[in-house]
Amino acid sequence: MLFIFSVIAYRGRMDVIKDKLKKIVRDRDWDQYHNPKNLVLSLVSETGELAEIFRWLSAEECESVMHNHELAKHIREEVADIFNNLLLLSMKLDIDLLDVAKKKLTLTEAKYPTAIWKGRARQV
Ligand SMILES: [Mg+2]
Repeated sequence: MLFIFSVIAYRGRMDVIKDKLKKIVRDRDWDQYHNPKNLVLSLVSETGELAEIFRWLSAEECESVMHNHELAKHIREEVADIFNNLLLLSMKLDIDLLDVAKKKLTLTEAKYPTAIWKGRARQV
């Protein structure tokens, strides 16, 4: 029961973000630029901006990166850019992000059974 309320609350928060995103796009007349190709390239660009933050950090530095106030702020901003671009793309393509994410997780569980894949990242 708690899970159902959590999903409803999350969907409500997603709707708030979607509405705000739609308003920003509508007010600036940006929809004319938001074809799927441009949205995919924007998503890749934003992902590249996140990768740039981590590019030359050591594995140890990556583990503690969120303790650095400036880097943490930058990472949060890029993650938000990625999320918002993915949301724009999913709205353009009429994809329910929560629905496809849940379905994909179910497929992943079936594809990588715990009995075989626990503690392993690749096939031997
Ligand atoms: Mg960015």
